[in-house]
Amino acid sequence: MPRAFITGITGQDGRHLAEFLHGRGYDVYGMVKGQNNPGIASLRDEVPYVETVPGDLADLPSLVAALELAQPDEVYNLGAISFVALSFNQAELTANITGLGVLRMLEAIRMIGGSQNNPIRFYQASSSEMFGKVRETPQNESTPFHPRSPYGCAKVFGHDIVVNYRESYDLFACSGILFNHEGPRRGIEFVTRKVTNAVARIKLGLQHELVLGNLDSKRDWGYAGDYVKAMWMMLQQDQPDDYVIATGETHSIEELVERSFAEVGIDDWRRYVRQDPKFFRPAEVDLLIGDASKAHDQLGWKPEVDFPELVSMMVQHDLEVEAAKAGIER
Ligand code: GDP
Repeated sequence: MPRAFITGITGQDGRHLAEFLHGRGYDVYGMVKGQNNPGIASLRDEVPYVETVPGDLADLPSLVAALELAQPDEVYNLGAISFVALSFNQAELTANITGLGVLRMLEAIRMIGGSQNNPIRFYQASSSEMFGKVRETPQNESTPFHPRSPYGCAKVFGHDIVVNYRESYDLFACSGILFNHEGPRRGIEFVTRKVTNAVARIKLGLQHELVLGNLDSKRDWGYAGDYVKAMWMMLQQDQPDDYVIATGETHSIEELVERSFAEVGIDDWRRYVRQDPKFFRPAEVDLLIGDASKAHDQLGWKPEVDFPELVSMMVQHDLEVEAAKAGIER
């Protein structure tokens, strides 16, 4: 059985990818940091077949030990400080984990290596946040980077070091430049889940307002379940390469809010929404829209869930979960 090792296993993508790889017959190892990691409970619940391995992206010897234990064929580096807003407050930590963590993982792979005929294949979770103040629209693999946050800067380092190690040491290392991808497993701090959860709670009478920041920025939002498949596809190619993964559509935060409220039959959404400066960012990424033609042509990848389906899936999920928590019959 092929073996996969995933960092960031407790996050949205980690759980989706574990599910996907398990379905394809992989033994899945997930790296878990710290004592009493709060993500472990839902991990055991949702993907009980994942074998957890201790390790931390800030600690190279722990990465080497984790790889020695897991003996993977494929390594997926999804671990990061992944929330842009937090990265402004904890910029050094973000640089260390989101940026230098990639370098440490690559070094650990160089040390462990895998066999000559079967070297370890590496996937790096790069991000559309690297495009930041976009130099061209839509963005593709050759669009220059102009990151707008410590998170974006750290991801640029991660991307560049993957390319550099591939060219320097002939590693099978791929960088997936994924645009925003969401779903019911998205953390509540991200705008999509914050909105769909609040809309569900407002509909159920559990909450009365939704407080947001900038409503004008636009994102190319896809479904996380579709995107983890692209990660795997990249590692099945003959040659390692970098790919943009996106839907090719963009929507504003305002459209997201309007559509989410419409899903529960509320048209006058402005009554419930307030803006607060504390949710605005020191520098914003105004517009993201990806051109995934290379992934379509070379990987045969395309997204299956569109924006209306994604919003509907998330709102319906949150209605169910919030009603159950509050003991409300529906
Ligand atoms: P990002 O694209 O990785 O930063 O993903 P987010 O979901 O955190 O943010 C997407 C966009 O939503 C950004 O342009 C934010 O400025 C905007 N936004 C507006 N209000 C909020 C809010 O209350 N929370 C978050 N997370 N984002 C918000």
